[in-house]
Amino acid sequence: MTARILDGNALGRELRSRMRGRVEVLAARGVTPGLAVILVGENPASKVYVRNKGRACEELGMHAPLINLTGSTSEADLLAEIAKLNDDPAIHGILVQLPLPAHIASKKVLEAIAPHKDADGFHPINVGLLASGTPRFAPCTPAGVMEMLAAENINPRGKHAVIVGASNIVGKPMAMLLLQKGATITICNSKTPDLGAMTRQADILVVAVGRPKMVTGDMVKPGAVVIDVGINRLVEGPNAGKLAGDVDFDTAKDVASLITPVPGGVGPMTITMLLENTLRAAELTAGLNAV
Ligand code: NDP
Repeated sequence: MTARILDGNALGRELRSRMRGRVEVLAARGVTPGLAVILVGENPASKVYVRNKGRACEELGMHAPLINLTGSTSEADLLAEIAKLNDDPAIHGILVQLPLPAHIASKKVLEAIAPHKDADGFHPINVGLLASGTPRFAPCTPAGVMEMLAAENINPRGKHAVIVGASNIVGKPMAMLLLQKGATITICNSKTPDLGAMTRQADILVVAVGRPKMVTGDMVKPGAVVIDVGINRLVEGPNAGKLAGDVDFDTAKDVASLITPVPGGVGPMTITMLLENTLRAAELTAGLNAV
């Protein structure tokens, strides 16, 4: 079997073009959705991410001011910047690009974002809403994965979903979203003794670890749907400098029925869902029912 490839670039483009009408409805009311992106320091990968996010917003007619603070910015100054944005009516979503420098407590910063402007869905109130089954802003990466499954008419109900990685950003909210759709969930972490024994049970396998090519074809159940969230820059070998996922694409594609590539899989969906959350925040503020 050779798996069909789930093209996140194409799906992301399609979903973004469907958002255009909603942006126009807001424009007719004099509202331009605004996403403030805060970058602290000069992390090269973060710079690329924020540039891509800003560009995607502008393509859709949203505005996305970038607030680039120096790496020596104090936690107090960053919190003051967030407080200003919380009060700014032109800003509907606020995103603080992670990771932050070590002297700043990320948790404190994420909790300072007004929950109704929390475009990333990381505020404890939004985490709680997600966990209780009424998500307002679901974290962008797992929300993007759910859109990919829906676009392929894959109904998680009754399926065994195995999630490798249990971070607050990906693994845990992924489990919540799949659970709400009726999947049976297993979440694995670095202490899981026999990872292959778990992953081989997965009808839907989501891998979000940060270790290049760690899940190989022999760890995949024949016919499984394989979602590779990992983004790793290879440092050695003939492909040094290129990006690789957490799944060994070449061996897994011969076993799976559907698989996401890296790049061009989950990544573009994450940005798309960030726009969705910003749009939804603007709609909620404007008194429109978010779709
Ligand atoms: P974290 O480092 O926050 O979490 C990694 C998780 O993987 C932890 O739960 C950890 O376990 C688990 N883990 C580590 N080693 C193993 C192992 N050997 N077996 C099983 N589990 C293991 O990472 P993130 O969730 O932030 O990111 C994961 C990957 O996804 C990265 O490559 C990142 O770049 C990528 N990413 C991609 C996005 C996209 O848009 N496509 C968005 C966000 C992230 P433990 O809890 O025990 O420590």
